[in-house]
Amino acid sequence: MSTPLSPGASFRPGNSQPPLPRDRLILAETPDAEAVPMDVLFVGGGPAGLAGAIELARLVAAGNEAGDGPGEVEIGVLEKAEGLGEHNLSGAVINPRSFRALFPELEDGDFPFRGAVKGEAVYYLRENGSTRIPTPPTMRNHGNYVASICEVVRWMGEKAEGMGVNVFPGFPVDSLLVEDQSVVGVRTVPSGLNREGEPAGSDAMPAMDLTARVTVLAEGTRGPLSQAYLEWQGVSSPNPQIYSLGVKELWEVKKPLDRVVHTMGWPLVKDGFGGTWAYPMDDNLVSLGIVVSLDYENARLDVHGLLQQIKHHPLFREILEGGELLEWGAKTIPEGGYHSLAQRRHGAGLCIVGDAAGYVDVPSLKGIHYGMHSGILAARTIYEALRKDDVSEAGLGSYTRAVDESFIVKDLKRTRNMRLFFKGGFLSGGIKSGLATVTGGRIPGGMISSESDADEAKRLGEPVDADGELAVSKVDAVYKSGNQTRDDIPNHLIVGEDVPPEVAEMYVHLCPAGVYERDGDRLVVNAPNCVDCKATDVLGPRWTPREGGSGP
Ligand SMILES: Cc1cc2nc3c(=O)[nH]c(=O)nc-3n(C[C@H](O)[C@H](O)[C@H](O)COP(=O)(O)OP(=O)(O)OC[C@H]3O[C@@H](n4cnc5c(N)ncnc54)[C@H](O)[C@@H]3O)c2cc1C
Ligand code: SF4
Repeated sequence: MSTPLSPGASFRPGNSQPPLPRDRLILAETPDAEAVPMDVLFVGGGPAGLAGAIELARLVAAGNEAGDGPGEVEIGVLEKAEGLGEHNLSGAVINPRSFRALFPELEDGDFPFRGAVKGEAVYYLRENGSTRIPTPPTMRNHGNYVASICEVVRWMGEKAEGMGVNVFPGFPVDSLLVEDQSVVGVRTVPSGLNREGEPAGSDAMPAMDLTARVTVLAEGTRGPLSQAYLEWQGVSSPNPQIYSLGVKELWEVKKPLDRVVHTMGWPLVKDGFGGTWAYPMDDNLVSLGIVVSLDYENARLDVHGLLQQIKHHPLFREILEGGELLEWGAKTIPEGGYHSLAQRRHGAGLCIVGDAAGYVDVPSLKGIHYGMHSGILAARTIYEALRKDDVSEAGLGSYTRAVDESFIVKDLKRTRNMRLFFKGGFLSGGIKSGLATVTGGRIPGGMISSESDADEAKRLGEPVDADGELAVSKVDAVYKSGNQTRDDIPNHLIVGEDVPPEVAEMYVHLCPAGVYERDGDRLVVNAPNCVDCKATDVLGPRWTPREGGSGP
């Protein structure tokens, strides 16, 4: 028997959220005597980490050749996925400027892109119809390229290895090792343990320590190490970071899609802020998806369900009919922008780059070139710090300054209030963001204050209808994500105690991978299904790194 849920019950998700496990994430311990010695370690082999590793390897090689370099520098990239690119969601539209900066000797045609954006269209959707609207300047993609992030990351990994970078896939970092206020290395997650945390067989591997003069956190969205570091150091931001959840699918289709499509409006007019897209990846491949901000009000809103619903809208049905779902994935996006940037994104022995630092421009749904550029700027600072033998907080301070003076922060400043305008509703948000666009962000000016997503009240509303012939269940979606987690690994999700039934009901609908189920008043947690999107880390149970190769 379960406690009946009161319709319309209102609650604050943060009241049931356990604290960040900082004692596990930041360890004031001397690295093991057998620790692997590195000079610079990048945690996360996504676009930001790999761009940083490549730039640093290039600077070291050029400096040493010219006779004023820092000598031999061991650079490592630790990636939790079994292979590079496996934890990066496929279809994306990429602004090529950071590729051009990182590989000045190459032409655009040499980059691993699927093709230039040939046309684009933005629609305002109603439940059964759509109206094409002029493309807002922030959503224009002329000059950009369609790409698979997974292919891009693999290509960058090969470039990095070709330049002598040590790339270690299948090695998730569990903790930062610190000495006084300095980060001196990392500890990886042990593998081959059973649910009780004991070795499950002869292939179990203990945690491994790696030392580094500088550790670069490039762990992507809602990174627990970055959160813990900033909390430990007492570094704040004007507004808390806020997030959206994106769910994506890759479809093989019968007819080529001839343009990049973005939509706004239905099904999100009342319940939340977000939009959908369809990108042509090839003549017979389309990537489509939806992003929804996690401050939505209806606790039964289900982003995976909304994507299933949208696939039956005439605009998308026409694209997908007769096709086949190939891949599925989900991930959060940091969308607080300018006002949510931490005051410093460096410290003694540490830099934070990419999504982990919040370098995403939500109005244009772009983060790849910002993340890469931040990796490049971190590499330039680290190179000089190694040459001067000063990796103190002051020695690495020019990284935060360089980002603040770069196009990253300039762009985020221009769109600084756009996401926040929509907290007042779709219509007023649309008008204000239009004004901000034409005035380069000056009008309406000032700073709009916001709360964390977990502090925004939710109320129990109606569930999303996610049925239909093009729909895929959460169980089948997880299968399509390629998730190969062992069934008996230790639970990596930290759930609060005595979660009230209405909050548990929110977890069930929030998680795109069906990890949470209600069995009477019991909350069942199917942790191996987790696809590392980190949505519940924003609103509920904490996500922690698990053994290498787990997840999608
Ligand atoms: C649905 C969706 C659509 C998007 N569309 C676009 C788009 O069209 N264009 C665009 O420019 N941007 C887009 N973005 C944003 C873009 O994906 C990110 O901004 C970009 O990938 C950030 O790069 P990153 O290297 O910082 O992080 P990521 O790409 O997330 O890479 C982080 C890496 O770190 C690894 N990692 C995490 N934790 C650990 C750990 N503890 N130990 C070791 N490894 C770890 C992860 O497995 C991952 O490989 C989109 C995002 C989403 C979610
Ligand atoms: S349990 Fe895993 S898949 Fe589900 S919301 Fe949390 S992080 Fe995402």
